[in-house]
Amino acid sequence: MKVYLDNNATTRIAPEVFDAMLPFLTERFGNSSSFHSFGSDLMEDIEAAREKVAALLGAHAEEIVFTSGGTESDNTALLGAVTINPLKPGLVTLKIEHPAVLEAAECIKSKGHPVGISEVNSDGTLNMSSLESFISEQTGLVSIMMANNETGVIMPVEEAARKAHEAGALFHTDAVQAVSKIPLDVRLMDIDMLSISAHKFHGPKGVGALFIRKGIEIPPFMLGGHQEKGMRAGTYNTAGIVGLGVAAELAIKHLLEKNGGTGLLLERLESGILEKCPGAVIAGADADRLPNTATVLFRGVESEAAMTLLDIEGICVSSGSACSTGEESPSYVLTAMGIDTVDANTALRFSLSRYTTGREIDYVLEVLPPIIEKLRDISPYAK
Ligand code: PLP
Repeated sequence: MKVYLDNNATTRIAPEVFDAMLPFLTERFGNSSSFHSFGSDLMEDIEAAREKVAALLGAHAEEIVFTSGGTESDNTALLGAVTINPLKPGLVTLKIEHPAVLEAAECIKSKGHPVGISEVNSDGTLNMSSLESFISEQTGLVSIMMANNETGVIMPVEEAARKAHEAGALFHTDAVQAVSKIPLDVRLMDIDMLSISAHKFHGPKGVGALFIRKGIEIPPFMLGGHQEKGMRAGTYNTAGIVGLGVAAELAIKHLLEKNGGTGLLLERLESGILEKCPGAVIAGADADRLPNTATVLFRGVESEAAMTLLDIEGICVSSGSACSTGEESPSYVLTAMGIDTVDANTALRFSLSRYTTGREIDYVLEVLPPIIEKLRDISPYAK
C-alpha cells in the first residue's frame, strides 16, 4: 500500500485539472500573444482562469498576475514593494517564513534597507509584540505567512495587516499553504498582496499567482515581454494557467465540503499517534492549525531513520530538517519555537489531502507505532 502524506510538499493533480489542461498540451498549443486566432483565442481561456483564481481569493480578476509559482510570487511582492517609496524601503517579516521570503529579505538587507525578522511564540504563532517592535516609519512592507508549511500553524494575518497599515506600510501574505485549506478573502482580511502556488492544491507545478490590490504599482520582477500588462514577462504557460483556474474552482467547492473530512482524518491520526506512541508531542498543538497538517516530535527517535522505515512500508512523510553534507540540521521553524535541536531532529510532518482515506490513516496507525518503539529502543538519545 502506498500512503502519500506529504501534501505540503506537493499534491497530485486532480483528474478534472488534468482533463482541462490536456487540450492545451496537444491541439491547442498556440502562443496566446500571436496575432492569428489559433494563438490569440487562448486569451479567453487565460482570462477565464483569472476569474476563477480571483473568485477563490475574493479579488477582482484584474488584480491577479500569473507567475511560475509561490517562489516567484513572493520574490515579486517583496523585492518590488520596498522600491515603491524611497522613504519606506524597509521590510518586516517572520522568522519561520519559507526561504522564498527569507532569502528575498536577505537580498533586501544586502542592499542596505532595514529588515526586521519577527519572532514566534512557543506555539508557533507570530509574536505580535516582536512584530510591533520592528515596524517603523521606514517600513514599506510587512510580510507574514498565512500558515506555516511545517507546523500548519495559522498566523493572525488580519491583526498583522492592521499593524502594517497603521504604519503606512503595505501588507503581503504568503498563502501558499493556506489557500484551499481554510477560507480566505483578501478584502475582508485587508490584504494588499498574496501569493499562491497551484501544485499545493491539486494543480500543476510551475504556475501560481500573485494578487496585487488595485492601485498598488509594483515594478515587474520578470522583464522582456508585454504579458500580464507588462507585470510578468514570458510566454504564457497556458496549460498551467488553465489548470490553476480549475484547481481554484475545485478548491472553492471542496472548501465548502470541508475537503472530504480531511480535518476529521487528521484528528484521528493525531489522537491515534498520541495514544499509541507514548511521549509523542504535536508541535503547535495549542494553536489554530491547518486541518491537514501535523508535525509530531517522537522524542529519542531520529526522524531520518523513521522516515526511511516508513518509506519501506510505503508511507511517505517528511521531516522539517534539511540534510546537508550528511549532517542533519534541525528545522529552523521548530527551533524558532524554542524546541531544542535534538528534539527538532525527531520531527515528522504528516500532511493530508482531500484524497487521503480513512484506510490509509488506519494503515499508518498500524505501521508507525512499532517503528517508533523499535527505533526508540536502540536510540542513544531516548529520554
Ligand atoms: N511558500 C510556502 C509557504 C511554501 O510552502 C512553498 C513551497 O514549499 C513556497 C512558498 C514555494 O512555492 P513554489 O514551490 O510554487 O515555488
